[in-house]
Amino acid sequence: MSELINSSLRDLSRALAAKRVSAVELATLFLDRIEKLNPALNAFITTDREKTLAQAQSADATLKIGTGATALTGIPLAHKDIFCTRGWRTSCGSKMLENFVSPYDAHVVEKLAAAGMVTLGKLNMDEFAMGSSNETSHFGPVRNPWDVSRVPGGSSGGSAAAIAARLSPAATGTDTGGSIRQPAALCGLTGLKPTYGVVSRYGMIAFASSLDQAGPMAKSAEDCALLLSAMAGFDARDSTSLERAGEDYGRDLEKPLTGLRIGLPREFFDAGMDADVRAAVEAALAEYRKLGATTVDVELPNSGLSVPAYYVIAPAEASSNLSRFDGVRYGYRAPQYDDLAEMYSRSRAQGFGAEVKRRILIGTYVLSHGYYDAYYLKAQKIRRLIAADFVAAFRECDVIMGPTSPSVAFAFGAKSADPVQMYLSDIYTISTNLAGLPGMSLPCGSGSNSMPVGLQIIGNWFDEARMLNVAHKYQQVTDWHTRMPEGVK
Ligand code: GLN
Repeated sequence: MSELINSSLRDLSRALAAKRVSAVELATLFLDRIEKLNPALNAFITTDREKTLAQAQSADATLKIGTGATALTGIPLAHKDIFCTRGWRTSCGSKMLENFVSPYDAHVVEKLAAAGMVTLGKLNMDEFAMGSSNETSHFGPVRNPWDVSRVPGGSSGGSAAAIAARLSPAATGTDTGGSIRQPAALCGLTGLKPTYGVVSRYGMIAFASSLDQAGPMAKSAEDCALLLSAMAGFDARDSTSLERAGEDYGRDLEKPLTGLRIGLPREFFDAGMDADVRAAVEAALAEYRKLGATTVDVELPNSGLSVPAYYVIAPAEASSNLSRFDGVRYGYRAPQYDDLAEMYSRSRAQGFGAEVKRRILIGTYVLSHGYYDAYYLKAQKIRRLIAADFVAAFRECDVIMGPTSPSVAFAFGAKSADPVQMYLSDIYTISTNLAGLPGMSLPCGSGSNSMPVGLQIIGNWFDEARMLNVAHKYQQVTDWHTRMPEGVK
């Protein structure tokens, strides 16, 4: 039974179908691991054994009847605490929502539950998904299972740590500027941010609405394909959800890579990346050449502007989105105030943490009269140029590759005193969000102190199936994605 902690979703599915294990047994296996290992990692904010086992029982009932079961029925997963989950506390990593129990399910939660998946709990994250290290969570930092003195990345750090420690076979994440890919890289996992609009944002607490996208995090590309196929699809409740037919994102997994053109952006291979990351990425590229792919140099001349443009656009949207937290309808309300204005200001002053306040201030500033044109409008124009760079690059290649993060996981406190250093953690991931393109990260080696290194694949719009194919073929000839941290075996 214990070998199941490192199984692929397909293997779990087969074990369930063959009645070698029940959904209740599987859920119990992971709940017991959470109980034992989570205190040291802090990946989960909320668990509820009774609720989980009730879902598992109903999955077992479906599996017994046979009809209505999917490949995911009975498989446990956990949700980033940014997804509203009916009857569960949904905190978004903030004191503001510390006691908020959602009355409804996010679209993604609903879809995965409809597929028969069993919820193990809610995962820690940077407050309102703002951060790259999980140090901004109201519930305390998450520790990286590969080395508990290091960060797991962020903002989906709880999702990444939970899977890396095999506390859950898979998890949901969200990526506004890199929050699926960067923690996946730092914890040795596979994670995918879909094309903007492919997955509904309904019930996903908004950070920067024109950038936010939900996606799967798991051990392998094959697992991500299964999850994404269940998560994606049109939803009338999100006005930016695309009216596209559902897809089997695993349909091309086995296609040979002969003739694949991999674009290497000059700007991604410049001085910014650490030597150990570069060595692992270069080795992965050599593996791809062996698989029949060719590499071509491409240019993304405006990519250097992506971090500055993002830190105008994302805070601008956040300042507007977070205005709903006013102490009136839901969330934290200050215990003492004299009038309405003071109730608003004290509730927000006490309910939000420092990084969230910094973003609200920046956002309000760049949107204010007199600065709007100079900052916000300018950033929107740069965003357009960044997207145009990708259009040109994809004329020369089928996918783009490079590092996900400039370094392996860093120590707690290493960047938290300097926001700009922290913001630069996403230097390779943010341009994808600004352009609305799909991106993924997969483990491709071991850097300094044996910490995982992530390879990033950026695809053309709607090319998720191809990216998953490209990642899967690599994972068939390498074993980085099956490796587990020593301490959790
Ligand atoms: N680290 C980036 C930020 O702090 C991205 C976060 C995210 O993708 N949610 O904004």
